[in-house]
Amino acid sequence: MRFSQFGLTTLKEVPAEAEIVSHQLMLRAGLIRRLASGLFTWMPIGLRVLRKVEDVVREEMDRAGALELLMPAVQPAELWQESGRWDEYGPLLLRMQDRGERDFCFGPTHEEVITDIARRELRSYKQLPVNFYQIQTKFRDEIRPRFGVMRSREFIMKDAYSFDLDQAGMEASYQKMHAAYTAIFERLGLEFRVVDADSGEIGGSRSQEFHVLAESGEDAIAYCDADNYASNIETAQTTRPPGERPAAAETLRRVATPGIKTIEALCDFLGTTPQQTLKTLIVEGTDGPVALVLRGDHELNAVKAQRIPGVASPLIMATPELVREVTGSPPGFAGPIGLDIPVYYDHATATMSDFVCGANEIDQHFHGANFGRDIDVAETVDIRNVVAGDPTPGGTGTLSIARGIEVGHIFQLGDKYSQALGATVQNPDGKNQTMQMGCYGIGITRIVGAAIEQNHDENGIIWPGPLAPFDVVLVPINLQRSEIVRDAAEALYAELTQRGFDVLFDDRDARPGVKFADAELIGVPHRLVISERNLAAGEIEYRHRRDAESRNLKREEALNLLEE
Ligand code: ATP
Ligand code: MG
Repeated sequence: MRFSQFGLTTLKEVPAEAEIVSHQLMLRAGLIRRLASGLFTWMPIGLRVLRKVEDVVREEMDRAGALELLMPAVQPAELWQESGRWDEYGPLLLRMQDRGERDFCFGPTHEEVITDIARRELRSYKQLPVNFYQIQTKFRDEIRPRFGVMRSREFIMKDAYSFDLDQAGMEASYQKMHAAYTAIFERLGLEFRVVDADSGEIGGSRSQEFHVLAESGEDAIAYCDADNYASNIETAQTTRPPGERPAAAETLRRVATPGIKTIEALCDFLGTTPQQTLKTLIVEGTDGPVALVLRGDHELNAVKAQRIPGVASPLIMATPELVREVTGSPPGFAGPIGLDIPVYYDHATATMSDFVCGANEIDQHFHGANFGRDIDVAETVDIRNVVAGDPTPGGTGTLSIARGIEVGHIFQLGDKYSQALGATVQNPDGKNQTMQMGCYGIGITRIVGAAIEQNHDENGIIWPGPLAPFDVVLVPINLQRSEIVRDAAEALYAELTQRGFDVLFDDRDARPGVKFADAELIGVPHRLVISERNLAAGEIEYRHRRDAESRNLKREEALNLLEE
């Protein structure tokens, strides 16, 4: 590819709308352009990267025996009503009507459509197992599209769906996809981790996510290598701490805490620590509000909390008006003593005594509060996020926390969709049997952003080889004025192309500094520089994008190095 014909413009300035480095670099290097919130055009150079991701994914899916098909992006409402998700899926679902005022949606995922295919096409257990996949555009009306292609509204997903006769078959299909995903992310050269996960709107019994590790990741991952444990923090479990609750030593005192709004300020004022306080959160419930009580330094885990019977799912925090109604005071002073609604206590409160909590009255807290004496002792539940240092569920190790970007998610669905849509096959006994399903998603477009988050420096992108839009950038110095350079560069360009390399030939009439800067920004792994001086010595200047210095090599040496 000749740079002069590429129509590419790179940007020197960091675009103000981009919060994280991958988004900034994708805009600066001309990989994407924004159309509207969460909608992006993939420019030619970005599309080259996207195709490389697709190629690896397609190869590994084919190798795992999955069959590619292509389903419509637009789906009729009737199918979603059959599964029950027309009402359940909520505002992420982009709904529309055709000219006959029939309801449709733009598919955020394809369980319904594929299950409809399966119930029509699959008749006998002899057709199983089967796994269909597609690489296709999805739409989710995300509440906060951000980070460029990492959380966009329109994006490309590889989604696969397996059908088996029974549970054991489904588990085997799931393990195959686990292995295929592992191969994909290894081949793409990304540092990743597989973690246990929540199944969300998709449903089913078990799921695992594949995360690319990066500081900017939206997800937190709890892991312990010694225990071989890894889970999204959304589902990482905590248990009741060991040991007995110390006996009460203090008397219950009501203290005035005028104008104090935060736990930190409260602790400063009372000379205590967040670990010695209780925080009481009021949330909406199915039969009226519910209180959730945590140790002051802990965070509520919404995924776990919304599973408690009586708590609204998805979790909804009470409005200030509701807090006032329940506690008789504005937000900030809620506490469990004298509260007349269902209260759930986190496990970590099980060994607390002599603590501080809100008094359900403006500018008032209790000091020296105790279970058994001031509040009834209750069963404790798991409603907080784990923190670094917590014991693993196995109990032998301690957890560390890392940040990750979810690039893949695999689910054991069981019969959630096949039951609802009546997808059965004849089993060996001649009876109809509901099929067992799995589903498996990879965020193709998100991978590009995630790869950059993990691989960049202050000058630009550093593509892992398999993702690079070009393998080699060829930079001739003084191309327009030196016949020797022009002949040598054209000959090398032809030879490299002939050998099968993707070459970016920077034939622009621009200063070397400009060309070098663009090559680094775009992140081409190998750079070859041709100049009159080097040619006189029969050499080419070579530099890998990760090298600090360039070095001169004989032409043949350079070619051999690229072949390697
Ligand atoms: P998230 O938790 O990030 O919202 P999800 O769990 O809702 O994602 P899945 O339904 O598991 O997503 O979809 C499969 C894959 O599609 C995800 O692992 C992710 O890589 C990708 N994906 C999901 N939502 C988006 C989005 N808004 N933009 C880009 N990629 C996405
Ligand atoms: Mg997911």
